[in-house]
Amino acid sequence: MADPSGFLKAVRADAAKRPVDERIGDWAEVYADLGADLRDAQVREQATRCMDCGIPFCHNDAAGCPLGNLIPEWNDLVRKGEWSLAAERLHATNNFPEFTGALCPAPCESACVLSINPLSGGPVAIKRVEQTIAQVSWERGYTQPVTPGVATGRRVAVVGSGPAGLAAAQQLTRAGHEVTVHERDDRLGGLLRYGIPEFKMEKKGLDRRLAQLRAEGTRFVTGCEVGGTGPGAVSVADLRSDFDAVVLAVGALRGRDAPEIPGRDLDGVHLAMDHLVPANRQCEGDGPAPISAKDKHVVIIGGGDTGADCYGTAVRQGAASILQLDQYPAAPVSRDDARSPWPVWPTILRTYPAHEEAGDRRFAVAVEEFAGDAAGHVREIHLREVTVGRDPETGARSVTPVNDVVDVLPADLVLLAIGFEGVERMPLLDGLGLSLTPRGTLSCGADWQTTSPGVFVCGDAHRGASLVVWAIAEGRSVAHAVDAFLMGHSHLPSPVHPTALPLAVG
Ligand SMILES: Cc1cc2nc3c(=O)[nH]c(=O)nc-3n(C[C@H](O)[C@H](O)[C@H](O)COP(=O)(O)OP(=O)(O)OC[C@H]3O[C@@H](n4cnc5c(N)ncnc54)[C@H](O)[C@@H]3O)c2cc1C
Ligand code: SF4
Repeated sequence: MADPSGFLKAVRADAAKRPVDERIGDWAEVYADLGADLRDAQVREQATRCMDCGIPFCHNDAAGCPLGNLIPEWNDLVRKGEWSLAAERLHATNNFPEFTGALCPAPCESACVLSINPLSGGPVAIKRVEQTIAQVSWERGYTQPVTPGVATGRRVAVVGSGPAGLAAAQQLTRAGHEVTVHERDDRLGGLLRYGIPEFKMEKKGLDRRLAQLRAEGTRFVTGCEVGGTGPGAVSVADLRSDFDAVVLAVGALRGRDAPEIPGRDLDGVHLAMDHLVPANRQCEGDGPAPISAKDKHVVIIGGGDTGADCYGTAVRQGAASILQLDQYPAAPVSRDDARSPWPVWPTILRTYPAHEEAGDRRFAVAVEEFAGDAAGHVREIHLREVTVGRDPETGARSVTPVNDVVDVLPADLVLLAIGFEGVERMPLLDGLGLSLTPRGTLSCGADWQTTSPGVFVCGDAHRGASLVVWAIAEGRSVAHAVDAFLMGHSHLPSPVHPTALPLAVG
């Protein structure tokens, strides 16, 4: 039984960050190391604020956690200091709680009953509790490899080693199948490795999980493009003959470009991933990144996660200035009940730690032109204030300048962080006879199976560019489906249906 008045005794407290001056001098995570005793005491107080509501919206997959994390249960265990049991309950629904604890935008917290009224002191700091349970579990040795008790003799190929592929692989290995993860990159982890910067999640945590998966029996092959023809590639024919089932977890990595903006082809104008991947490689020890923000006036176009990651990376690379642009007006800083009533995910201004470090943001503006020097390198952006509309009939977006004023601003490095258009077009899809939906994704039936028998899909490849928590949830669900396909039934959990969507208004 939780403490029903816990929230009256303490207000929400987020994890302390390192001072800006300190953290921008390295690539380590932005959060301060409080030491285990103080950290655990603070987090126990935060967990005590959970009221164990009759209907806990936080762990409902539509409004709250897509994984169905048993949040009130582990909050109460943490309150009582029962960390081992809390770790067991957390891992019952989440393969990689240290990934979500570091990266998840926490829809559970905006669905927390304590987020309805600000006088309550704010929602329970669920993500912080989750992160700490995962940390304590590693520190005290509660997290260990779980080796399968049976061997089914069935072989499963997972294509892609992002969070969706890794979750599917771990579940299927633990169910007794022989699982091989094929990854085209030289290192494992997908966007966890080469998209998300070190200051958001240190890769040693990813490597520690990969060691656990290996110890459980999952096999990994890197530098292996499935369906490709280069060195290390595996053909579709070999994939089909060597494995009884295939899971496609190939992500949605086709970056959206803006070829219509004059000057897009100037040197110094890049897609965001062209900046983030080499910066992450540099942190892995691969040498200096070819695209660096050092001493440059950096303009980031796009206001989401990817833009914020370019922002923090540019700060650490020593940019002369940073400006992030968004076509939409700034959202309100707190929930607007008319637009996004509780418990739906609120449309609010998202401010990331990187935004506290340097630079500036401008809203309701669009670049009209990139202008360059005689050598063909970008030097300026021409900016207009705009409104964004939508055609009520076709849904097409229109961006209209509000006046004739053109702001000319310096720009030596422009990063386009305007989203992803879906799965890359690759020979693997042709080889399997699969085509993309108009959204650029791979569709599947209720059993997660594509139109190619025995070939399943999960994660961003199925959902479109999304979140780590959804990737893990889909990976777990596809594992259930593959296990049932191979064995006729499955005891593996299946937290989400392929058609599951977050609760929305309108
Ligand atoms: C810059 C950035 C920052 C983000 N930050 C956050 C965040 O803070 N919080 C959050 O929740 N989400 C974040 N996301 C989203 C999150 O990273 C993704 O939703 C998640 O990684 C999707 O997982 P996935 O396993 O489906 O695909 P991915 O992580 O994209 O992995 C797909 C893998 O498949 C491999 N692959 C593709 N084709 C082949 C082939 N033919 N053969 C072999 N391998 C292949 C790719 O190399 C890649 O490694 C961010 C995304 C980006 C781009
Ligand atoms: S995974 Fe995300 S939504 Fe689920 S409990 Fe953790 S922070 Fe909340």
